[in-house]
Amino acid sequence: MTDSVTSETEVLIVGSGPTGLTTAIELRRHGVDCRLIEKEDSSVETSRALAIQPRTLQAFEDMGVLDEVLEEGVRVTDATAYDDDESLFHLDMDNVRPPSPYPFIWFLPQNHTEQILGHRLNELGGEIEFDRELVGFGQWDDRVAATVRHREDGKEQTEEITANWLIGSDGAHSHVRETLGLELEGVTTEQEVLVADAKADWKLPNTEASIWFHEEGVVAVLPMPGEDLWRLFIDVTPIPQAERPDATIDVLQRLLRERTIHRNVTLQDAPWTSNFVANQRMVSRYRSGRVFLAGDSAHIHNPLGGLGMNLGIQDAYNLGWKLALVCGGDASDALLDTYEEERKPIAKTVLDKTGASGSVLVTANPLVKTIRNTALPRVLRSSRIQARILRAMTQLDDTYRGSSLAAVHVDSPLAGLLNSTVEREVRDLLEDSWRAPKAGERVLDGSCRYLNGTETSLYDEIHEQTGFVLLLFAGDGTAEVDSMVHLAEELTDFGGLELHQYVVISDDERDVSESPVVSVLVDEDGQLHSQYDAHVPTLYLVRPDDYVGFRSQPPHAASLTAYLSNRLHVGDDDREVDLR
Ligand SMILES: Cc1cc2nc3c(=O)[nH]c(=O)nc-3n(C[C@H](O)[C@H](O)[C@H](O)COP(=O)(O)OP(=O)(O)OC[C@H]3O[C@@H](n4cnc5c(N)ncnc54)[C@H](O)[C@@H]3O)c2cc1C
Repeated sequence: MTDSVTSETEVLIVGSGPTGLTTAIELRRHGVDCRLIEKEDSSVETSRALAIQPRTLQAFEDMGVLDEVLEEGVRVTDATAYDDDESLFHLDMDNVRPPSPYPFIWFLPQNHTEQILGHRLNELGGEIEFDRELVGFGQWDDRVAATVRHREDGKEQTEEITANWLIGSDGAHSHVRETLGLELEGVTTEQEVLVADAKADWKLPNTEASIWFHEEGVVAVLPMPGEDLWRLFIDVTPIPQAERPDATIDVLQRLLRERTIHRNVTLQDAPWTSNFVANQRMVSRYRSGRVFLAGDSAHIHNPLGGLGMNLGIQDAYNLGWKLALVCGGDASDALLDTYEEERKPIAKTVLDKTGASGSVLVTANPLVKTIRNTALPRVLRSSRIQARILRAMTQLDDTYRGSSLAAVHVDSPLAGLLNSTVEREVRDLLEDSWRAPKAGERVLDGSCRYLNGTETSLYDEIHEQTGFVLLLFAGDGTAEVDSMVHLAEELTDFGGLELHQYVVISDDERDVSESPVVSVLVDEDGQLHSQYDAHVPTLYLVRPDDYVGFRSQPPHAASLTAYLSNRLHVGDDDREVDLR
């Protein structure tokens, strides 16, 4: 017999992979009641995703898990491609410009990452509710009602959970997606790769990825935490489909001996093996009413570049604060449409790029193979091209510049002299030539200090807050310091938004008084003012996920208020102010 209970929560998250865990952490950090259900009765123990990209490390810092993540794992800074014993090209993370605060890719098995995220969730008062499977749901204007099945004392129980919002972070075979009638649209490719974690007795550098471009298929070997443990990717696409082998230890060892310089390598153990057939697919919509898709439920692609888990974590990092504002009644539901607006183009780009690199690297086509083995290494020797590839690979290039949440106010020197269309074009050109973080780009770090001399950094300050941060740069010299402090004090009505204000000054020779609502940061060597192109007074509004939402030079209070209401959908000021 099946017993049934009922319950309520603000947000129901389905699936406790990295995407669901991040969503739960972000909601709890922003004070939202949520539940995280998982159909399995314990966490998955296999390694799967290994690469944590710099962009995700930045999010982890904000989420409070970075130190734990960096305690275990392997720091990978380089990759070398070989043809037998000849080095074809070398990729070096030092070529990334501007440099990232994390100039490396961190290799940590996904089960460890999930464990760390799980601990953080526990610290925040949440937990994974195992053995709870979503079996159906319906949605109305004001709620979602979900049916969840679980076993208790050997008896099957059904729980009817009423929630305001439901997140489908339930992976590639998402039941949530299926119930919404959405499909992962795209292709299942011909590409097949043997994947394994294996112990090998070779002496390869453990800070770099080693790749062999062999006639019969590419081999990639990545270092893993654990003695002599390596992640192997062996392309079997050129082998006729019916003859492709399973990833057994004997097959892996034979292919490594045939395709790399390590003719006598011995694999002692392979704790995890898999045959991976690549799909390049994504959904057409991330939102349907009160239900959202995030992570693998919304997009899947080949494991080249190690981006799938990273994409899902960043989906959740984007959605979390927006949902929190809406749940708290501080923003209208329209803000939630910007989740798809911002995240879908990023997934599309990843699918396009991994699809293109997949068809070059993992191929049975003899012509493509020749180009791959001859022209590609030559192109990749250019450090400029390397820098571009590495920035894209490590997700440092991902921005929300085209988003409706990215806006600027710039006083044009030509105001009133030109008609409004031409003047707008002039302002667009000015924005494009802007060197500092543009609206929609991630903020940059830099050191500074408090008036009392205590050292700090912009990231430390920004990550201290869970809400928005307003940076008011006073510009070079001291002339505008008082007016910036006064402006900050006057800017008090943010329609209920949690917002912390900083006035950043480059010179504290004159007395500057701090007020209870404004912190003053001293940028002694002017580095922050330069990085932010703030030699004259400039305002930056930083979103909770560390992206610039709004920039105004000079600071323009009415435009900020208009941005909050018209773009962020916070408050009820809908005055017409020209934002770009
Ligand atoms: C070989 C391999 C290597 C990879 N390497 C990398 C890499 O280096 N870097 C990278 O970023 N990515 C990598 N990936 C991809 C990465 O593993 C996935 O993108 C990631 O797991 C997606 O996370 P998710 O939380 O969205 O989904 P999942 O991890 O699939 O989690 C979904 C969860 O939902 C649960 N669930 C499903 N249905 C229900 C239901 N009805 N009710 C309740 N719970 C449910 C599932 O049990 C599961 O726990 C790799 C993948 C593979 C296979």
